[in-house]
Amino acid sequence: MRFARFLLDSTERIGVVDADGRFIQPLDASVSDMLQVIEQYAEFRSPGANAEKVPLDKVKLLAPIVPRRNVFCVGKNYREHAKEFAGSGYEAGAVKGAEIDEYPAVFSKPPTTIVGPGDDVQLHAHVTTSVDYEAELAVVIGKGGRDIRAEDALQHVWGYTIVNDVTARDRQRHHKQWFLGKSLDTFCPMGPWITTADQVKSDDLDVKCWVNGELRQNANSRDLIFSIPSLIATISAGLELHPGDVIATGTPAGVGIGFNPPWFLKAGDEVKIEIGGLGTLTNRFV
Ligand code: MG
Repeated sequence: MRFARFLLDSTERIGVVDADGRFIQPLDASVSDMLQVIEQYAEFRSPGANAEKVPLDKVKLLAPIVPRRNVFCVGKNYREHAKEFAGSGYEAGAVKGAEIDEYPAVFSKPPTTIVGPGDDVQLHAHVTTSVDYEAELAVVIGKGGRDIRAEDALQHVWGYTIVNDVTARDRQRHHKQWFLGKSLDTFCPMGPWITTADQVKSDDLDVKCWVNGELRQNANSRDLIFSIPSLIATISAGLELHPGDVIATGTPAGVGIGFNPPWFLKAGDEVKIEIGGLGTLTNRFV
């Protein structure tokens, strides 16, 4: 099933998006939080055929979930992107020749970065002149746990969505750490909804990103260096994952710093991301 969070008559609601993506069936108004759906999913029954249906183009979609703590993110998790990043001069503390890491690079973005489909992303021109896009497959945790083994990890995944890990490259370079450059307000567009794990083959999804209609990123999640199970095992080692935690799995090649000269976002640019059957996430930069 596909669960969306949206505004209906100015009220936040959760609903189920139908198979052809034209209608949304609002859940009972007492369910106002995606975490409630995640925690009660075992008892969840899809709305009946006679349930209320609202045309999707008549509602304002919101980010499907705003996690209670930072979004976990993975850096340099596609080979070609690791190469373009290493060659860009924007990687703080890069070791020459070491394009592929032995361990995944993990950082985080605060929940205040999250915006929804169609929302504007602020360029923060007084802070940075090198804002870049990163199309990413994101995992939403269902069953929490610590020290999760890779072979059990997929049992902890509730669903998948799309994230744009927007990055201020100059901040990333200057501060020799990724947090500041990744954490400006509005720097984490997410959506359009969460597709439950039973409907997703997460190791074979096309990841595509367009800027103003021009295809920039085009890869497949099978090319992840560190697989989703291995990432969950690594992150949960001694650190309890909670239901509703989000892990962004890294971006493929084709980001702005991969071009010579680099191609940074400017006011009015539109970034559109499409991943497998997970929908489309489009945002304008202002
Ligand atoms: Mg990223």
